[in-house]
Amino acid sequence: MTDDDDSDIDDSDIDDSDIDDSDIDCEYTTCLPVQVDVASGCDDDIVRAALVLPSGADHGKDVGRFIRMLMRSRHGTPFEHTFFRFVVKAPIFVLREWQRHRIGWSYSEISARYRQLEPEFWMPSLGRPIHEPEEFNPMRPELERDDALVEETIQVLSATYQAVWAAYQHLLSRGVAREVARAVLPVGIYSQMVCSCNVRSLLHFLSLRTHKLSARYPSYPQYEIEQCAKLIEAAFRERFPHTHAAFEECGRVAP
Ligand SMILES: Cc1cc2nc3c(=O)[nH]c(=O)nc-3n(C[C@H](O)[C@H](O)[C@H](O)COP(=O)(O)OP(=O)(O)OC[C@H]3O[C@@H](n4cnc5c(N)ncnc54)[C@H](O)[C@@H]3O)c2cc1C
Repeated sequence: MTDDDDSDIDDSDIDDSDIDDSDIDCEYTTCLPVQVDVASGCDDDIVRAALVLPSGADHGKDVGRFIRMLMRSRHGTPFEHTFFRFVVKAPIFVLREWQRHRIGWSYSEISARYRQLEPEFWMPSLGRPIHEPEEFNPMRPELERDDALVEETIQVLSATYQAVWAAYQHLLSRGVAREVARAVLPVGIYSQMVCSCNVRSLLHFLSLRTHKLSARYPSYPQYEIEQCAKLIEAAFRERFPHTHAAFEECGRVAP
């Protein structure tokens, strides 16, 4: 920082009374909307890809059996000739977990550098397990329900969200760039992304972001991303019933 920069800082500009949180219109929600925007391909297309046949060609195979064979032998590339695109609106902490899935996934997220985020914040739902029991094991996190604690958390979150939203608005009103003002926002604020993947990468995502004791390697994902994963899995099962059945049969391990 130069001396000139220093001279621009005037403490009298920073006044708590500028931060007015008396009438803040924050919206709170537990919703995790995931929309299947585009889906293409089907079980037969996976068989055709494995046999190097063009789309629509007669493959003459028992689809269920053939896909089971591909899945068991972990012959994975035929599952890549398929496509899903999702539109996801979720708190930043969910998108951040999701975007850790790098292979076979593409992401486009709205930019808080270029636009103001909306005052829409996540709240835990009643019934969501929330309490860490005494014998809590972070590697196998199993939380207990405690709706009174959810309600207490909602109180704390709403006060916090209002305060940070007021701070964000204050900074913007002072002419601070959006890319800097966003630093006050919490991971509970909603963002939106479009993401796409193929069935192979989707299966890997489902293996890690759903909890099933029947899985060969049960995973312990956070509740919210699991809610999203369950929605996606239902859409995937409907479109690729044989692939889904083979995935289950093979212990929910992606090929
Ligand atoms: C329950 C749970 C807890 C987690 N906790 C944490 C945590 O505490 N901290 C944290 O940082 N992350 C955490 N993660 C994220 C996790 O480490 C993975 O980043 C995430 O699940 C994506 O998995 P992936 O890397 O297998 O997927 P992808 O990135 O889609 O990769 C798919 C596969 O490609 C291969 N691959 C990808 N990149 C490489 C590479 N660079 N080198 C070699 N092979 C590669 C691997 O076989 C990999 O499984 C957690 C995930 C889960 C499900």
